[in-house]
Amino acid sequence: TTGTGTGGRHFLQIPGPTNVPDRVLRAMDMPTIDHRGPEFAALGREVLEAVKAPFGTSNPVVVYPASGTGAWEAALCNTLSPGDRVLCFETGHFATLWQDMARRLGLEVEFVPGDWRHGVPPEAVQERLAADPGHEVKAVMVVHNETSTGVTSRVGEIRAAIDAAQHPALYLVDTISSLGSIDYRHDEWRVDVTIAGSQKGLMLPPGISFNAVSDKALEASRTARLPRSYWDWEPILAANANGFWPYTPATNILYGLREALRMLAEEGLPDVYARHQRHAEATRAAVRGWGLEVLALDEREYSGSLTAILLSDEHDADEVRRVILEHYDMSLGAGLGRLARKVFRIGHLGHFNDLMLAGTLAGVQMGLVRSGVKVDPAGIQAALEVLGQ
Ligand code: PLP
Repeated sequence: TTGTGTGGRHFLQIPGPTNVPDRVLRAMDMPTIDHRGPEFAALGREVLEAVKAPFGTSNPVVVYPASGTGAWEAALCNTLSPGDRVLCFETGHFATLWQDMARRLGLEVEFVPGDWRHGVPPEAVQERLAADPGHEVKAVMVVHNETSTGVTSRVGEIRAAIDAAQHPALYLVDTISSLGSIDYRHDEWRVDVTIAGSQKGLMLPPGISFNAVSDKALEASRTARLPRSYWDWEPILAANANGFWPYTPATNILYGLREALRMLAEEGLPDVYARHQRHAEATRAAVRGWGLEVLALDEREYSGSLTAILLSDEHDADEVRRVILEHYDMSLGAGLGRLARKVFRIGHLGHFNDLMLAGTLAGVQMGLVRSGVKVDPAGIQAALEVLGQ
């Protein structure tokens, strides 16, 4: 026997779904109520108001009983028409999936190639839009935090680039792995649709997703002609005015959402964001201390919610993850798409603290050693120093 045993808690350190706090689990442990009754209306009204805070908006937020992919589709089909041109950037696996969806829906996609180690370059956005005096491009689609690479695009600077080109394109942003973890400002950055999901920074189980909607996006939805029915904002917003949905909402997840939003408000969003940045910095200190490479190349784009670690060709990152799961009962994120087997990803977002990170990094270090990857054990010490500051 190895003596590593199976007692204690599993470490769920993939970059989402994340650990659900006990407070949220308790809040969801309720009888499901009549979703057309007065008790539900009060819950609906409360969460629809409170959910605006992490988006940084005073506009409506549409909540779907769907995973994030559904909210991606909702953002496109509510605002665009068949044959519309959209501008996308290849920042990684999720940007690639989203532009693929746009193509399947009948949009004309311009997909700017990328190296999966950088975010969306604001200069490139300005250049492309400046070269479109006829305003053929109807939307710019950006993934705020590329969960496949641990790279965060600079959404505020991209807004400035769109403005500098004096271009009226809609601005659609995926915050599925950043909302509630990395500073975000839907209103200030004049984003038209912000897409988010429940299972990452919001500390909930998978199952609901969001569209925060600007006035300009609502205006666009009145003439947009992509077919839509389930995703249509209009009947949802009409029902939401009284705290209801036109169909059956995810009642118990909404109880959880109410509790999670209370937790975020108690800690304070600026402190939540600062905590994520500290944990990300400590993780990078460990990676460098081990003598390994952080996938993200531009320090302005380091992700606060996850870190992808690049291994040299002689090691298989999936084998390292297998060893860590088997011996230390910890789940880490796999390399996706073209990064398969080359990287593994540590999620450090959501319901998470210093000692959980210390345990996570200790487990990664032990797993690397056990897998035969040469690492300097000073890595964990470097991380603890950042945490101790
Ligand atoms: N976009 C990003 C950035 C993601 O990280 C994910 C999932 O991890 C998705 C989209 C897809 O969301 P879902 O799996 O909830 O449909």
